[in-house]
Amino acid sequence: MMIDSHCHLHEAVFRDLRGTLTRAIDHDVWGIIAVGCDPGTNAKTLEVAGHHGKAIWPCLGCHPEWTGVTDAQVEEVEHQVGEHHSRLVALGEVGLPWYCLQAAPDPATLMVRGRQRLDRMLGLAARYDLPVILHAPHGAAVEALGLLRKRGIERAVFHWHKAPAEVTRQIVEAGYLVSVTPEVVYRERDRELVEGVPLESLLVETDSPWPYKGEFEGLPTEPWMAARVAEEVAKLKQLPVDEVMFRLSANACQLFDLPYA
Ligand SMILES: [Zn+2]
Repeated sequence: MMIDSHCHLHEAVFRDLRGTLTRAIDHDVWGIIAVGCDPGTNAKTLEVAGHHGKAIWPCLGCHPEWTGVTDAQVEEVEHQVGEHHSRLVALGEVGLPWYCLQAAPDPATLMVRGRQRLDRMLGLAARYDLPVILHAPHGAAVEALGLLRKRGIERAVFHWHKAPAEVTRQIVEAGYLVSVTPEVVYRERDRELVEGVPLESLLVETDSPWPYKGEFEGLPTEPWMAARVAEEVAKLKQLPVDEVMFRLSANACQLFDLPYA
């Protein structure tokens, strides 16, 4: 039994959500952590979670790579979190910009704005005692770690984690989790990450509907793939699949304060 710890169910491709959930359950994926990125996708995430309360747990966020999100919309996200915090299992997707900086005419300004926004979001997480789902890849990871510590946030996952090994070591030592996607099946960098991190510090996710390569090439990405990711983690850890799936689910239950099945 598995949980997909990061999924964008607000996307239009998930029109047939009942079909998506059926395929997930067929693969023993019985729970989905659904993240939002701006006021509109947050509202959609709450709506789908409202219709499928047993299988979908909502999070609200402000995606750091969505450069079009205005200050007024950030305020709107803060209101949404204030209004719905008792229904949420985390704040996410939040974090620091990284990929968008490459094409930005003024990356320094974007980074300053991103830092301020993340700090505001972490303030909300502290206020409502919510864990945080972070987008902070590569060079952004070490700074996000610093901001988490400064705010005294105790529960966080670095989603689709990629960072230098030394930064990963600090993240794990601080008690935070890192998550891996279907890339772990075919990408050496992700496989090394799994080998180097204790099972207790790992989550699996699909970041659906993000497309993957290798055996997933051409397949629509859906939450059922979290089970395939867990299977690969078991291979890399050289442990029985059932044991690894149980541990990964327990990790998710602990981080998001979910009831054990
Ligand atoms: Zn995402």
